[in-house]
Amino acid sequence: MDFYKGNVLRIDLSAGTTAVEPLNMDWAEQYIGGKGLLLRYMWQEVPAKVDPWAPENPIILMTGPFAGTGVTTASRLVVGCKSPTTGIYTDSYVGGSFAPELKFAGYDAVVITGKAAEPTVVVIKDDVVEFRPADKYVGMQTSAVEEAMRKDVDPGAKTLSIGPAGEAKIPWACISTDQYHKAGRGGHGALMGDKNLKAVVVRGTGSVSVGDAKAFLDLIYKLHEEYILTEDNLWAHEEGTPVLVDPVNGAGALPTRNWSAGEFEGAEKINSEAFQKIRTKKRACYQCAIGCRNFHATTFAGETVRGEGPEYETIALCGANCGIDDIDALMKFNELCDELGLDTISTGSVVGLAMDLTEQGINDFGLRFGEVESYVKVPELIAKREGIGAELALGTRALAAKYGHPELAMEVKGLELPGYDPRGSFGMSVGYATSDRGGCHMRTYPTGDEVVAGTSPANEIDAAKIEQIVVGDSSKGFIGQNMSSIKFSAILCDFWAVTPEQLVILFKELWGHDFTEDEVLKIGERVWNLGRLFNLREGVEKDDLPKKLYAESGAFAEGPSAGQAVGEDKFNAMMAEYYTQRGWDASGVPSEAKLTELGIDVRL
Ligand code: SF4
Repeated sequence: MDFYKGNVLRIDLSAGTTAVEPLNMDWAEQYIGGKGLLLRYMWQEVPAKVDPWAPENPIILMTGPFAGTGVTTASRLVVGCKSPTTGIYTDSYVGGSFAPELKFAGYDAVVITGKAAEPTVVVIKDDVVEFRPADKYVGMQTSAVEEAMRKDVDPGAKTLSIGPAGEAKIPWACISTDQYHKAGRGGHGALMGDKNLKAVVVRGTGSVSVGDAKAFLDLIYKLHEEYILTEDNLWAHEEGTPVLVDPVNGAGALPTRNWSAGEFEGAEKINSEAFQKIRTKKRACYQCAIGCRNFHATTFAGETVRGEGPEYETIALCGANCGIDDIDALMKFNELCDELGLDTISTGSVVGLAMDLTEQGINDFGLRFGEVESYVKVPELIAKREGIGAELALGTRALAAKYGHPELAMEVKGLELPGYDPRGSFGMSVGYATSDRGGCHMRTYPTGDEVVAGTSPANEIDAAKIEQIVVGDSSKGFIGQNMSSIKFSAILCDFWAVTPEQLVILFKELWGHDFTEDEVLKIGERVWNLGRLFNLREGVEKDDLPKKLYAESGAFAEGPSAGQAVGEDKFNAMMAEYYTQRGWDASGVPSEAKLTELGIDVRL
């Protein structure tokens, strides 16, 4: 089979050894790559019920089949582990150019176990893998680490690294690559820090074979012409995710001041139009025709601040959720998080919570909604666990619990929620509650239909919408969990609104035989169910939401979503409907019949 290199690299940091073994091609056929193959490897490689901080908990780097081939948006990497943040499955996707370089070096995946005795950098140069001391890189921020690796290892080196936040094991520390690309959610950076692994660097001189290269290039051209460079996707190039600020705010779904409102009065100062005024250039990940990465420049406190982003989620959580409408301060906050290696969703969430606790007189953190001076100091305090940072580093759930107000923590299964309030976008209620990595919008995205396109009522949820959450609706571009699971197994970027029909074309190139659209979606369902089994094995908590997001008592008194709440009875009924449609029992356990139907070969 072309596309795959057929090799998995194993790195044992405790023993200081490496080994190469064949990629399990049966699993690759069943699960494609990316998320699916990651999950199948995790089932095998993660010891059941292992402490997430134990050396045996691996970090797995998995490419997709099309990385390095020129298929647009496909050169992404997924990083997986049992999350130190949530104790369940987590995956996080990162663009840039690490994944193709890894394949050029000869590997489809890397499994990293153990814990190095001293800070270490792993350098992969084709078939030579070295462990190098990392003392001189300790404390470096993420862009400095990458620059050092280009100087010390190879000018073309591609680097995955952690910043000071990862070294300090902040539970939501992320992994960085190509400076601005982050495997952000779930704490992979914290686990890297715990393993004393400052960076993984790769340089490859090989290539990826695609069989008949001319036919394949013709196909890529056709995909670009017909399916990619279309208005379904080019919004990402033209405006990028800040375009979401206005519609989400207009629907009363923009988390504001720790989710105490759904409409932010300062939104127009941090919306797409505002960012376009300070935009300087665009950039793309490896061989991506869409090129959505936006660079901005401004000044804050007399200093130039320039960089990529912020994306919508950062604007929502670090902006509106903290009451911040100062675009310069928001740019600075985003830069600090990027350099320190902090996920911005979780950082914005915990800072918003600390502001709320202060404003309500519960504990004075010296932080207030909208107050810039104290706000921009917080990322560094968190990353170094200094001053109030030592407490904020507990994370949203533990911080709220410590001060006796768990109801103020806006998280699901320990992962802080992203920027869509279910009170203004009802579908997100079930979406968040059932997400396989905790509070996340990337498994299903009802907001796309309910708020952005306006093709589905934002204040209704019924069995038909649950079906879209489960499966997706390709005719409308509604992203469902099965559809996102197959898309993330091929590792196509979220910003290509790919359909099952288009995946059929790609998978025929991959496996050389025809697929139906139903078969494509069935693979996605298989992946989703395997994720559920993994989480059940590890002891996942009940699928639920912070109660104020669905109970009638939590409805806003004013704003565009005033008076709206899914309702507690309705929410419970919809969760029961979700389990039924999934073929799971009333407590969310997949039935034997469902597992057999999907050809899943593992059991609890
Ligand atoms: S659409 Fe944007 S994030 Fe996605 S692969 Fe292309 S440049 Fe990277």
